[in-house]
Amino acid sequence: MSELNCKHCGGAVELGNKTCPNCGIPLPPNLGKYPQRKFIIFFIAVVIFCAVMIYWLPPNWI
Ligand SMILES: [Zn+2]
Repeated sequence: MSELNCKHCGGAVELGNKTCPNCGIPLPPNLGKYPQRKFIIFFIAVVIFCAVMIYWLPPNWI
């Protein structure tokens, strides 16, 4: 399980908790669920990977 941080106190919060175990503040139900952001990060990583490969490999590498 991936751990998250409480936005109020900064303490570690387990995914699925409804309240922060440190300060007791109610956590939003969608905490840690950012599929769109993860997709964007994955997309940027692929673009950077392709750019590095184009930079490293000479045009006539075959
Ligand atoms: Zn907290």
